[in-house]
Amino acid sequence: MKILVINAGSSSLKYQLIDIETEKRLLKGICDRIGMDGGTLTQENAEGGTLTVERDMKTHKEAIELVLGALTDKQAGAISSVAEIGAVGHRVLHSGEDFDRSVIIDDEVVRICEKNAELGPLHMPGNIGCIKSCREVMPGVPMVAVFDTTFHSTMPPKAFMYGIPYSVYEKYKVRKYGFHGTSHKFVSEEAIKFLGAENCRRLIVCHLGNGSSISAVKDGKCVDTSMGFTPLEGLIMGTRSGDIDPAAVEFMRVKLGMKAEDTVQFLNKQCGMKGISELDSDMRVLEKAINEGNEKARLAVEAAAYRIKKYVGSFAAALGGVDAIAFTGGIGENSALMRRLVMQDTEWLGVDFDEEENSARRPGIRVLSKKGSKVSVLVIPTNEELSIARETYALVLAK
Ligand code: AMP
Repeated sequence: MKILVINAGSSSLKYQLIDIETEKRLLKGICDRIGMDGGTLTQENAEGGTLTVERDMKTHKEAIELVLGALTDKQAGAISSVAEIGAVGHRVLHSGEDFDRSVIIDDEVVRICEKNAELGPLHMPGNIGCIKSCREVMPGVPMVAVFDTTFHSTMPPKAFMYGIPYSVYEKYKVRKYGFHGTSHKFVSEEAIKFLGAENCRRLIVCHLGNGSSISAVKDGKCVDTSMGFTPLEGLIMGTRSGDIDPAAVEFMRVKLGMKAEDTVQFLNKQCGMKGISELDSDMRVLEKAINEGNEKARLAVEAAAYRIKKYVGSFAAALGGVDAIAFTGGIGENSALMRRLVMQDTEWLGVDFDEEENSARRPGIRVLSKKGSKVSVLVIPTNEELSIARETYALVLAK
């Protein structure tokens, strides 16, 4: 079966067509500047055929229609008719407390997503707009919502509660939800397959990219995670502050003369490694700057690594020990420097880190701990689209 995986933002729409039997990606593409002037679709198939279409897309529906045309393109497409698409998997940011797993989309699911849109005001309208458009344009094709949050729905209340009045949690559902769930789930499953369930009962997954989060996973189920009510909590990320004293936020707001409604945007876009380095959010740029002696870049990376290390320690405590630590995401998979800084001085935890292997560049799953290390340290390339396609297939089959 061929599965179309869609990841829609407010003004962009990324998509992949995956053959689920072989788990091979047939093509990938992106629509940019939806709802703005200067819209473009770019696509590339597995044979290297490329397509660029410059056309304004006023709505997500127009974008979807353009995508369906591109899928059958002679040069860069992968199917001869849209009827070959067996199912569509939609990445949806937020499940609220309404879903604890992926679901087949029907009117009721759309209604619940609309109710939860206020929990993710930047992403949910795009997600929902795209689901509605696909249902209109591809009637009869089964569609599945795969949420970024549901992998974390197994967290116990003591882990997801904030120290706020219970009535506020009950009425407004203010609590930790966690994000990057498709990646944490995919990497956990891969780690368990690779090491065997018995050697991977207490796993810490470090998803380190532009956005970063860590999960504590016991027997394949999430028991805690670093992101919270929104993806702003937790680690020092590319441009997000991560954990910060809320009183410091109010103090900065007054000192910087910011409007209250701009503070979240400030913490999301101007802080993190970009804020500390006053240079860039991109790890490659920061590593280059460090090599050239830039001290603020060094501080940014060291502060980010220190925060990760503290979470690893606290999640080891939450899990009652740790059997394996898995790095993933653009930084987790590629930055030997970040992994080294995080893993330095973790012998107390039972890690015997293999520096040489850490610096080597190899594709696929890699083991960065020495033979005999009590804790296995792995690099596991994430594949969120494949994770969404797998979930979609499983639900469509079960139906
Ligand atoms: P992601 O959000 O998962 O795509 O990750 C993006 C981050 O990964 C950016 O900070 C990139 O600089 C970083 N990254 C990608 N490739 C490398 C690399 N070869 N070395 C260091 N960082 C990298």
